[in-house]
Parts: sequence; C-alpha cells; structure tokens
Amino acid sequence: MTYPDSVRIREVGPRDGIQSEKADVATKDKIALIDALSGTGLRLIEAVSFVSPKAIPQMADAREVWQGISRREGVFYSALVPNRKGAEIAAEAGVDGMQVFIAATDSYNLKNVKRTVEESMPNVADVVAVALAAGMPVEGTISTAFGCPYEGDVAPDRVARVSRRMADEGIGAISYGDTTGMGTPRRVTEVIEAVRAELPNLTLNMHFHDTRGTGLANVLAALELGIDYFDASIGGMGGSPYAEGATGNIATEDLVHMLEDMNIDTGIDLAALLDAARLAQGFISGTLPSKVLTAGPRSDVAGPVSQAG
Ligand code: MG
Repeated sequence: MTYPDSVRIREVGPRDGIQSEKADVATKDKIALIDALSGTGLRLIEAVSFVSPKAIPQMADAREVWQGISRREGVFYSALVPNRKGAEIAAEAGVDGMQVFIAATDSYNLKNVKRTVEESMPNVADVVAVALAAGMPVEGTISTAFGCPYEGDVAPDRVARVSRRMADEGIGAISYGDTTGMGTPRRVTEVIEAVRAELPNLTLNMHFHDTRGTGLANVLAALELGIDYFDASIGGMGGSPYAEGATGNIATEDLVHMLEDMNIDTGIDLAALLDAARLAQGFISGTLPSKVLTAGPRSDVAGPVSQAG
C-alpha cells in the first residue's frame, strides 16, 4: 500500500469546534487558542465564520476574534461563509481565504438555509465572485456527504452531482463533511471514487467525525486512495449535533499521532498540539474526547509491555 508522503491538515476547532460548544467561550480564549494553534506548525486554520449571529451566537464575535489574533507568517487563516454578505464581511476583514458550504441533500439544506441544494447554487456563485474580486482563494464544503439526519444514507452519485454543480460555479476544492458520523471506510471509498469519476481534477478534503468510532479508519481508507488533505479539530472539540453527548470531529492530535507513526509528514509538532488541546480543555464544558490527550502519545510508554496485554 502506498500512502501520500505528506498531508495537509486544516484545523477547524476554533470554528467548527467552538460553534457546537455549550459553554460561552470568551473572545480572549478563542484568540489564545488560535494563536496557540498557529504555533504548532499547522499551516491551515479555519479561524471564524461570518454567519448570522442569530443563527450561530457562538460566532457573534468573529470580527473581534479575527482582529485579535497574531497572524503568523506562513499560516493560512480561512473563514466559513454562507452567502454574499458573509463573503463581503470576510473580504473586508482580510482573511486569507473562504469556504462556502452546502448540503448534499435537499432536506438538510432546507432546514439549514431554507433552500434546496439547487436553489443555493447562486449563493455559491456569489461567494466565488466576491472572493475572486478580492483576490482570495475559495473552497467548498459539502455537509451530509456520508449520511443525512433526515434522509439517511446518501448515494455517492448524489454527492458527485452536487460536487459537479459546485465546480460549475468555480469551486476547485471541496471538503466532504461527515456531519452525522455515518461514514465508514467502505462509504468513504465509494464517495471518493464517485467524485473522482465525475471530477478528476478536483482537490478533495475529508472532514470526518468519530461519532461511531470510525474516524481514523475513514482517514486510512482515504489515504489509501491518495487523499492528502484532512480537517481535524483540536482535542476533538465539537460534539455531534445529532446525538446528545456523542463525539464529533476527529481530534487533530489523534490524526497527527497516527500519521507521524506512518512516516507521513504533517509539519506539526505533536507536543505543541497537546498543549493547545489542554488550553482548549480549560475553557470548554465537559471533557475533550481526544484519545492521545487522555492516554499520552505512544512514545511516552516506556518499559516492557505486559505479556497479558
Ligand atoms: Mg465537523
């Protein structure tokens, strides 16, 4: 099996993680977390989203957070935006790039933004136009790519068709979100193959959740197909919105820990990442689900391993 020599990891904790956090996270804590993350070797950080504060109160201070961080050279800070208005705010704020999101299924998209997937395509075109005018790269995100809370399993062909429509609007990189945590290695393989058959030149990012324990197995399945771009969240921050108390995003340190042992370069310092996870643990409610944060890296284990296991 040949794996990529290196992978890019986009840290989504400050946005995706904090967005689903129950505790009120102070602006200064969000800023401190982003600054800690930018010191770990991470090159891509989804820092904020410019969405309606009524819809997502956790991101109401996005501008203050953005203005408060110390931007580190070589780190690309992106913002998630839903439409033209969000894109204009992001462009004015001077982020490095933006992501526009859409769902794979109409039911989810209707609940989320009161439009069908096709009805949302003009939004995608608007965001692309604003980003291009501002000279900023723009990527897409397709949520519910491996399962929908209202429709159940999603056909890989459906995901490929929505990808095609986004690509038609000028999107060259798409992140596939396992919103419901229904992804398994088999389904990940099917989605990647379907999308690649439709769009061989598209850049694919995988955004996996560990809701049912398949998060890193899904990463391995994607690596086997040559995928070298993943999202992850510090400490595994961000619960599943569809199952009370369940885990959401895979933890960045768990991902880096596994890749490091596979000799796949991430450019990220695991010890610094664990420090950032401890910082996050200090201001969120509950306990972060990260395995490596709990057990420590495997390299910490010294001495003979018990025969009894
Ligand atoms: Mg997520």
